[in-house]
Amino acid sequence: MASSPITMMKMKLNNCSPPSTAAAAARFLPLLGPHQIRFRSSVAPLYNPSFPRTIITRPTFSSSSIITAAMANEASVKVIDGKKVAKDVRDEINAEITRMKDSIGVVPGLAVILVGDRKDSATYVRNKKKACETAGIKSYEVCLPENSTEEEVLKYISDFNDDPMVHGILVQLPLPSHMDEEKILHAVCIEKDVDGFHPLNIGQLAMRGREPLFIPCTPKGCIELLHRYNVEIKGKKAVVIGRSNIVGMPAALLLQREDATVSIVHSRTTNPEEITREADIIIAAVGKPNMVRGSWIKPGAVIIDVGINPVEDATNPRGYRLVGDVCYEEAIKVASAITPVPGGVGPMTIAMLLSNTLLSAKRINNFK
Ligand code: NDP
Repeated sequence: MASSPITMMKMKLNNCSPPSTAAAAARFLPLLGPHQIRFRSSVAPLYNPSFPRTIITRPTFSSSSIITAAMANEASVKVIDGKKVAKDVRDEINAEITRMKDSIGVVPGLAVILVGDRKDSATYVRNKKKACETAGIKSYEVCLPENSTEEEVLKYISDFNDDPMVHGILVQLPLPSHMDEEKILHAVCIEKDVDGFHPLNIGQLAMRGREPLFIPCTPKGCIELLHRYNVEIKGKKAVVIGRSNIVGMPAALLLQREDATVSIVHSRTTNPEEITREADIIIAAVGKPNMVRGSWIKPGAVIIDVGINPVEDATNPRGYRLVGDVCYEEAIKVASAITPVPGGVGPMTIAMLLSNTLLSAKRINNFK
């Protein structure tokens, strides 16, 4: 979350070759046999809004609303509405913050440090600040010029570490190239590492029987979406495409903690398509527009598309549009549920940052 690495560099439009209807039918026909299971007919609304699981606990599933590894057609595919879930999460956080403020007079505080003048980073920081305000979290913002020294940044971190009003500290990435990112991130005390990137947090995430203080925001948001849509994870085959420290790797660890059998696909994987096609759950976090094609997807799979890729689009007033790592037009013909881009994982990332900040404030103040 510290890095919200949407490179605004425009890429050549990969239009995912939306197949003509006939070609698409030909491509998917072998996958859409009549023997395959459809959604259960009694499915209650798949999305369970009254399931507050922001501070994630293990879900209890109602068998009637679990997404099974069922086949879907375009008409039955569920679009996983990240915007809506994120709003629900933010409302729940807001209610908790009010309860805490009324009970012990504490308001959670989040400090954000921005170095340099990257427009995209400034936008992310602005969005985080706005989200904090809406949720009732006090935000503290430090904007430093590009030519600041490492020592200056470390001094701010040290001050925020000591400030009892601040419960979370976030250093917006990327930092200018003259700074040692690792050193700076390590300076954030682990109790306020709401990004969850500290090696101790990641180590605890990886170890059985250990609990990390914080779970990185984007992977946490992915799992929260699966929970809120009652997607069964336990015993399922999951594939995570991408193994970055901030998304792919922690997402794989989280799925494993939820008892999925997890494969990780990366740039050196020789048969990504084959491995992906075995998965009931796919989390794609690559940064390559439309890389995952319809033919990679097992019928009925649930897809969480983390990728945010700008592609040229002359029809769009901005000259580009955002697409995911998964070819949406093809995927909706095969998957049982999918997150759109934009409007899927993106809004969840900020919601989870707020969730981590609240969690931190509660823990520091021993508020249940
Ligand atoms: P990174 O560039 O850090 O990691 C990309 C990963 O994808 C690497 O592990 C890399 O493998 C793997 N990869 C690259 N090419 C291929 C390939 N051809 N086949 C299989 N794997 C490949 O990206 P991030 O994890 O930071 O971000 C991934 C995407 O998610 C981006 O589009 C980013 O914008 C988006 N994002 C969205 C967020 C949100 O809030 N929605 C938040 C964070 C990111 P290897 O390790 O071998 O190099």
